[in-house]
Amino acid sequence: MAEITMKNIVKKYGDGFPAVNDVSLDVADGEFMILVGPSGCGKSTLLRMIVGLEDITSGDMVIGGTRVNDKAPRDRNLSMVFQNYALYPHLSVFENIAFPLRLRGGLPEEEIRKRVQEAAETLELTEHLDRKPANLSGGQRQRVAMGRAIVRQADAFLFDEPLSNLDAKLRGQMRMEILRLQRRLGITTVYVTHDQTEAMTLGDRVAVLRRGILQQVASPRELYEQPVNLFVAGFIGSPPMNMVPASVEGDELKMPFTSVPMRDEWPAAIGDRTVLIAGIRPGSFEEASMVDSDKVDQGVTFDVSVDVTEWLGNEQYAFVPYDAPEDITATLAELQTELDSEQTRTQMIVAVDPMSRVKDSATLWLDSSRIHLFDPESGENLTRVESSDS
Ligand code: ATP
Repeated sequence: MAEITMKNIVKKYGDGFPAVNDVSLDVADGEFMILVGPSGCGKSTLLRMIVGLEDITSGDMVIGGTRVNDKAPRDRNLSMVFQNYALYPHLSVFENIAFPLRLRGGLPEEEIRKRVQEAAETLELTEHLDRKPANLSGGQRQRVAMGRAIVRQADAFLFDEPLSNLDAKLRGQMRMEILRLQRRLGITTVYVTHDQTEAMTLGDRVAVLRRGILQQVASPRELYEQPVNLFVAGFIGSPPMNMVPASVEGDELKMPFTSVPMRDEWPAAIGDRTVLIAGIRPGSFEEASMVDSDKVDQGVTFDVSVDVTEWLGNEQYAFVPYDAPEDITATLAELQTELDSEQTRTQMIVAVDPMSRVKDSATLWLDSSRIHLFDPESGENLTRVESSDS
């Protein structure tokens, strides 16, 4: 097992554009680290530099205390699990798992058997050792691929979008399998995905990348509750955070659908800015009649018209149109294009209690303590509170 330390890692391809730009990141021994971001953000390139499949332009890659920049992949003792598991169809499960040991050579047959048996037990594959991959379920195939990684006694597992070819149901099952195994084995794991749900459910910590630059590394909860900027705020969470134009007018923060009294902590956070972007998670609203009376004063109550509602049994969303100036900010327009956001600039998504009956209009309550205020140019979250859990 090993920790992986990346120090100021840069990768420039032929055209000189940095695909990975000055990334410093520590993955602790036994940690499950997710690299996430939209297509082209550099996450696969970073993973390939850890494994040794890609040269590092500058910076240091340190694994288990040793600088590995110039080490060949086979000398790094890492194990990569690929999307299609790369199993040999003509070999049995036993031989598939034993493959890397035979390839390396030098191990007595007895030791090979012992390691394969042990891995099979851990992975609950013992009774399938004689089968061919074609006769296994998707989950079992994945376990065989992980068995291969285990027998090698690799220092870390690396995954590059292993679930992206699967349908939604299987993907959910596989996610749980990977999580269970990683917990049981306690092996350092780096996992690349563009799917924020995978990132949130699997990671001890999640590293969010944008255009080759590391934006934030934190626990899923902290990313959700305290995003550093508009990009992270918009990328993490489904349905996405609402981002609406806001302005300071006297002792109120004015938004297109309501105003809230300025909170005590806001003036220091926003300085002399009067134009802001307010970020509000759908769940920070509630249908007013559902709010406990002792909580009401914590927020504001206001009427809206509702375009449509989506009732999903255990959740309900109302789509609330609002009038916003056309030119709200370049930052927001650019971000929504980049994130391919379903959110339009004149509509909010509001989560209301599934028991409440919302139709063409609603009285909503908004918890003002859960409003984030962002700088409209830099996108920085001005009201972020650093937490101690990551
Ligand atoms: P995806 O999810 O689409 O795989 P990614 O976040 O993994 O994206 P990378 O594959 O790491 O992104 O690519 C990062 C950037 O580097 C992209 O702009 C890509 O076009 C560029 N890039 C990747 N490989 C090469 C290469 N061999 N030569 C030149 N540019 C490359």
